[in-house]
Formats: sequence, C-alpha cells, structure tokens
Amino acid sequence: MSALIGLQCHMCQALRPAEAVYACDRCLGPLEPVYDYDAIHLTREDIERRPKNIWRYRELLPITGVPQTGFHTGFTPLVRCTRLADKLGVDELYVKDDSVNHPTLSYKDRVVSVAATRAAELGFSVLACASTGNLANSVAAHAARLGMECSVFIPDNLEAGKRLGSAIFGPTILAIAGTYDDVNRLCSQVADRYGWGFVNINLRAYYAEGAKTLGFEIVEQLGWRYPHHIVSPVAGGTLLPRIVRGLREMKHIGLVDGALPRVHAAQAAGCAPVVTAILDGSDHPEPVRPQTIAKSIAIGNPADGYQVIQTVRTTGGTGVAVPDEKILDAIHLLAETEGIFTEPAGGTTLAGAIELIERGVIPRHESIVVCVTGNGYKTTEVVADAVVEPVRLTRAFKDFEAWWETRASHRVSV
Ligand SMILES: *Cc1c(COP(=O)(O)O)cnc(C)c1O
Ligand SMILES: [Zn+2]
Repeated sequence: MSALIGLQCHMCQALRPAEAVYACDRCLGPLEPVYDYDAIHLTREDIERRPKNIWRYRELLPITGVPQTGFHTGFTPLVRCTRLADKLGVDELYVKDDSVNHPTLSYKDRVVSVAATRAAELGFSVLACASTGNLANSVAAHAARLGMECSVFIPDNLEAGKRLGSAIFGPTILAIAGTYDDVNRLCSQVADRYGWGFVNINLRAYYAEGAKTLGFEIVEQLGWRYPHHIVSPVAGGTLLPRIVRGLREMKHIGLVDGALPRVHAAQAAGCAPVVTAILDGSDHPEPVRPQTIAKSIAIGNPADGYQVIQTVRTTGGTGVAVPDEKILDAIHLLAETEGIFTEPAGGTTLAGAIELIERGVIPRHESIVVCVTGNGYKTTEVVADAVVEPVRLTRAFKDFEAWWETRASHRVSV
C-alpha cells in the first residue's frame, strides 16, 4: 500500500533509505521523501469516500504501515469569509482554519501525526521536539495517545497557555534560557547523543510531509481547483513549501488541473528574515534576533528558509512583513467579522494578506486563501487589554432596565 521509496537530497539528489536522518550525508542538504507515483492510483471519489482526516491522502504520506495517530486531525474548515471580504473589498476570500485542528488547535497536529506514526514505525520510544509552543503541545498530546515517553524543549518566555497546553499531557518540559534558535541547537546535540525521535530534527523529513495535507485540503474543499492566491505564515519554513509540494503532487497524479496559485509569505516585522531575503533578492535568510508578539512564528534562523524563498519566487508570490499593531488589528477584525479567534500567527497572515490587497499585489477579483494556523485561546494575554469589560449589574430586573434605557437613549437605533 505504501508508495514510499526512500529519502532524497533536495540539493544533490542522492537517494537513501527512509530512516531517521537529519540531512544528506554527502552535502548536508535537506531530505525529502520520494514516492513511486506510478504505483499510486487515487481518484477524487476514492478520497471523498474516506474519513475526514489527513490520512485520506495516505498514499502521499511517508509511512509504510498503518496510521497510528491523527484520526481526527486535519480536514479543518475552509471558511468562505463574506463579511470580511466585503470589508476588504475582495470577491472571494477563504480562511483555511487550522485554529480548530484536533487535538491541540494548530496546524502542528498535521505534521506531528505523520512524524509520530513514523517514529513508532522506526522504533523510537521517546518523542521529542524543539518548539515555539504549538509543536510542543501537539507532540505531548500525540505521545500521550501513543503511550510514548515525551520530552519537549521550549524557550523560557512562552505564553502561559502554551506552557500549560503541553504540561497537561504530562511530558518532561525543558524551558531553556534563550531563543528558539538556541533551543534548536541544543536539541540537535541531544538527538545525536541520545537517539530520541525529535519530530522536527531527525524525523524532519517525515514531519514536513504532514504539512502537504493543508494544500491537498484547500484543493479538495474548493471543489478540486486551485485558488489564485495563498497567503501562508512562515516560521521555520516547513509549511509554505509543503503546501506547494502538495498542490504539485495533486496535479501530477491527475486530481487537479490549471495554474498553480501565487503563494505569499507573511512574517512579523519583528522577525522577518525570510521576507527580507525575498524582498532583497537574496537566496538565503540572514539570521535575526526575534522581537514580536507573534511568538509561535518567531524563528530567527529558519531551517527551511531557502526552500520558502525558492517556492515563493517560482509561484510568482512575494513576501510581506507586518508590525505587531497590525497583527493585533487583524486578530480583532477576523474575530469581529467571521467569528474566528486566532493567535498572533494568524493575525500576521491576515494582516499580510490585507497589505497585499491594498498594494494591488493581490487583485480584488481573484480568489484568496489565508492560512490561519493557530488558536487565540492559547494567547489571550496579547488581546486582554483591548477587549471590552462586561457590564456589571445586580440580579434585579430594574437595574437591567435602567441600564438598557440609558444605553438606548444614547443610540440612534438598537
Ligand atoms: C509552527 C507554526 C507556523 C509555521 O511554522 P513553519 O515552521 O514555517 O512551518 C505557523 N503558525 C503557527 C501557529 C505555528 O505554530
Ligand atoms: Zn545531498
């Protein structure tokens, strides 16, 4: 049933067995699973008949046995946003809403479902990660479900909701004094020395493939067609290139036709190494020290930055960096127009989309998908000061009435 052939180096094309390896042993290039596409016979109807989770595309995912977790992960809503579209003056706008992904409310459940299944197949007993928060939540939850030991490494400045969202599942949490990039460096050494299964280090090739499912779903949920534009957030750079890889694979096996969308990268201005490189015309991001409220995407030295830059360029997209005030405005706008509560990463993506629309880079009559990747209930501190306080009253009806009458008398219409 599996079409997985092995891992191939993205740079020198060397092929090797599908094991847990971080990089190409010849040139240190990133590794990508390769499949025997001729052996994959998959129709739209086959897919539509399957359960609504990421494994409905399992022939295109890098496992050799049966899925072990993620049975409710993915197939998140593609929300047609008519009120927000009216406000922005565009015709066809969608939010791909991974803020309600199962079980830990971010896009990371996709990548972890695949990496954890592969980790179990490869015989790992400890599941681990270096994380800006959401990944740790997801690794901890999936490890709990699989009965694996779990250690997650995070920077020591994360939001309370992100820390608690891991702690509840009972992993060992290591809060490291430093940035995500420091945490990641430490984890590479731990992976080498102790042989744990780090989903985003030595299992990264499998992990990254899980992100393709977001692209598959956009096509299927649009009725087996491509949109004109996709706006994606960028942190370590896993998601954006894999969305496009997924879009290309679907065309390759005959499930969709037409021109690929233009794919745009959004980052917070306080941590925008990839967007800066795109705008400067350089191939590699220059590392930065993050300073932004968008902590889940605050990665100053992105592992897959090069791939994001190449992908954005080949699709005819661009990059956009937005300041924290615009991120907050976008969080409120999405909540108030569409009833979707996202964290700063989603605010970044929407704010980036808005800027591209205003600049005319995204024409108003073309279809747009904005990827909302994380949930606002985990980062309530960023909006706590800006939301209205409740009206406080006694239990007496007359108090309510008095309040209502004074309020109504100040308003033209109710
Ligand atoms: C991890 C993450 C991203 C994107 O990360 P990549 O490393 O670029 O794949 C986007 N949004 C949220 C909420 C995340 O947690
Ligand atoms: Zn190589």
